Amino acid sequence: VKKIEFVKQHVRSYPDFPKKGILFRDIFSVFNDVEATRTLDCLIADHVKNLQKPIDAVIGLESRGFLFGPQIASILGVPFVPARKKGKLPGELIRLEYSLEYGTDVMEVQKESLAGKKSVLIVDDLLATGGTMKAAVDLATSTGANVVECFVILELADLKGRDKIPVPCHSLIVYD
Ligand code: 5GP
Repeated sequence: VKKIEFVKQHVRSYPDFPKKGILFRDIFSVFNDVEATRTLDCLIADHVKNLQKPIDAVIGLESRGFLFGPQIASILGVPFVPARKKGKLPGELIRLEYSLEYGTDVMEVQKESLAGKKSVLIVDDLLATGGTMKAAVDLATSTGANVVECFVILELADLKGRDKIPVPCHSLIVYD
């Protein structure tokens, strides 16, 4: 809890960013402090080393899931797979269209990268409404993979994002 509080103190909050009424939690501010960065690395490692289920791949969500995914994949000794917005990934893709507050968005992964991956972990920096994570779970599930866990560093609990997620969800730092 002390380590978690220490890291939390280094997450800066910006009112009215990127729009009025949004309180933006900036994960990058943690990386501005060496001790906080190392403490966060420890917390992430402690969590993923204690996962009791096998994982075949780690899926990281664009773009801040890319900050943590490769590190987690390396600890687990499995491949890292990026899930990106439309048109960013080359090659044969698996695609999922999902709805946002206004309109729809598309998330893609490379088909080959998930071939034969039975159990996956999905990581992002932050869980807000849960729309992004839900889309990632649906995308992974559509390939036949089982999502063992959704892992985020920060969770905005009042938005109840985890209620949308049909699989176990773990967060390190919770904002009530
Ligand atoms: P959701 O789909 O759960 O509403 O939003 C989560 C996605 O939006 C994540 O990919 C996350 O990076 C981004 N996001 C939403 N709000 C914030 C915020 O306050 N801080 C950061 N760093 N990312 C946010």
